[in-house]
Amino acid sequence: NPMTERYERYVKPQMAKVLRAIGLDINYQRAVGNHLYYCDEHGQEREVLDFLGGYGAVLLGHNPPQILDAARAMLDAQVPVHAQFSLRGRSGELAEALSRIVVRDSGSDVDFVTTFANTGAEAIEAAIKHAELERVLKLDRLLDAITLNIERVREAIRRGEVEIPHDLYEATDMREWVFDVRSFDDLIVALINHNSRELARRPIFVALEKSFHGKLASSVQLTWNKNFRRAFQFLGLKTRFVAMNDADALDRITSEEESELFDLDIVDGQVALVRRTLPQYAAFLIEPIQGEGGIHEVSPEFARAVRRFCNLHDCPLVIDEIQSGMGRSGRFLASAQVGLRGDYYTLSKALGGGIAKLSALLVRSDRYQKDFGLIHSSTFAEDDFSAGVALAVLDALEANDGALYQQAEARGDALRQALEVLRARFPDVIREVRGRGLFLGVEFHPRDNASSQILRTTAYAESLGYFLSGYLLRSEGIRVAPTGSAPNVLRLEPSLHIDDADIARLVAALERVCRILQAEDTLHLVFP
Ligand code: PMP
Repeated sequence: NPMTERYERYVKPQMAKVLRAIGLDINYQRAVGNHLYYCDEHGQEREVLDFLGGYGAVLLGHNPPQILDAARAMLDAQVPVHAQFSLRGRSGELAEALSRIVVRDSGSDVDFVTTFANTGAEAIEAAIKHAELERVLKLDRLLDAITLNIERVREAIRRGEVEIPHDLYEATDMREWVFDVRSFDDLIVALINHNSRELARRPIFVALEKSFHGKLASSVQLTWNKNFRRAFQFLGLKTRFVAMNDADALDRITSEEESELFDLDIVDGQVALVRRTLPQYAAFLIEPIQGEGGIHEVSPEFARAVRRFCNLHDCPLVIDEIQSGMGRSGRFLASAQVGLRGDYYTLSKALGGGIAKLSALLVRSDRYQKDFGLIHSSTFAEDDFSAGVALAVLDALEANDGALYQQAEARGDALRQALEVLRARFPDVIREVRGRGLFLGVEFHPRDNASSQILRTTAYAESLGYFLSGYLLRSEGIRVAPTGSAPNVLRLEPSLHIDDADIARLVAALERVCRILQAEDTLHLVFP
């Protein structure tokens, strides 16, 4: 097939080989609603039921009619797609709508300013930059205040109004810098040396183990999977990873990373050292439901601990709703379901209605740095076409008092219940069914004790999920994929339109998978 061969030769040679090995080497030609279509080797059109859903992008289905209508209307009206460096009405309208919905869902007391970008990872990069800008400007203000205080104390000493106590440095890290405790100049040298050393610390980003925040040069540093991160570790950020739902780990980070700057003041006629916390935490990133990590949810207790940690360090909490948001969980924000309130939110995927590429970083207006809009931009961001498409998506989601959110919840419950029944029948095959709304994961037991050598190999090669995805596509016409970092977990992210028949078809196919795995009937796992 020349189409697939060209991909192999000119786009991703190695990936094409992998897809061929798994049986996912298909070139789809058409997509509508829950279905994708391709031509088999006999030229026959084959239908595929899509439970992968564009990795979360096609919440409304493939090529949803109302979004296509909005897109066509814009094309017919010759809407200017590229009018950079102008006041872009559609982006304004979209940002206002996003702010209104996020305020409503999160219970925020202030509205949000949106920075638009093109991909999920790019929104994360914008969040990283904005957070660091916020931190650096905070540092500048702190250093200005310390400089003013030093001048004030110097002046008071010159006038003979204050003296330096002998034991001023005793309880501080500054001892190593001090030679003569009575000299004001030595005091200043010691203080500046200490502060300079602390200021050279790199900003700390906190993220969760099993996280996925993108694959660009900085965002990949916040993505847990070492396969994606290892080669690029020298490029980057200092990240502290915390296990999901491990609140004690947050306290450990607080004490391990403790750092203070010294400032001066005058207390009771004497020079006093004042300790000030170094603002070293740039941002805390969290997915309310981890997607690529294997469908893991943040507990309400951990959500509270994360919020406390961020408040303690005045560290912006970035809630990455790129995959979980836009209604997939049954609510616009999955984080709102566990009561987690963010300072920044990132959205993408379903925001583009399955046809446009855009992402958004929302920042609380009282944290938004006004100069950020001057120093961060992209040629393709804020384009009117994507903004218009996203407005049509929000219209659809918000129509009829949010009927589609309820639909996501109800369809998700139906899917989950059917999967739970299957798990109860095959507890030795299916370990767990997890997730919320239309964001579910089915975890299979690893087959490391199987008598079948083929199945044992899937445990060591971490390939069971890929193996099953190939079987489900070729033999059952169902499209799924494992999660990126948990290859025994099949992710299910169908569109809002899955009906009972679609669910029954998936469950019947998974039942055959369970029987095959139980009987170690690997011959039937090998597709024709
Ligand atoms: N954050 C999350 C939570 C994601 O799931 C993804 C994509 N899977 C990204 C960021 C990165 O998005 P993109 O692939 O568009 O760069």
